[in-house]
Amino acid sequence: MELCDLHTHSNFSDGACEPKELVRLAETLGLRALALTDHNTVSGINPFLTASKSSSVEAIAGVEISSDYNGKELHVLALFIENSLLDVQNFLEINLYNLMRKSNHF
Ligand SMILES: [Zn+2]
Repeated sequence: MELCDLHTHSNFSDGACEPKELVRLAETLGLRALALTDHNTVSGINPFLTASKSSSVEAIAGVEISSDYNGKELHVLALFIENSLLDVQNFLEINLYNLMRKSNHF
């Protein structure tokens, strides 16, 4: 049976490892695929994809987007991001700004 992890965080958000370390760990564990889904950022995706090129792990570009639903915090995973990472990052920053403004964080 092949295993994968479709929800991981690197030190680009609240994870402990660099993206390349996550790829190495996944390879050590024998995972078939790994998705990097940092909170509200795709900044770790390029080093993640680069590290995966020299490994047996299929890297999946993703992100965990903060949102709210009926006043409750809701996190949404997006996988297989195909648009430009810069466009996605711009969207994420605007989304987070609006979310924080709505909840009176500033
Ligand atoms: Zn998460």
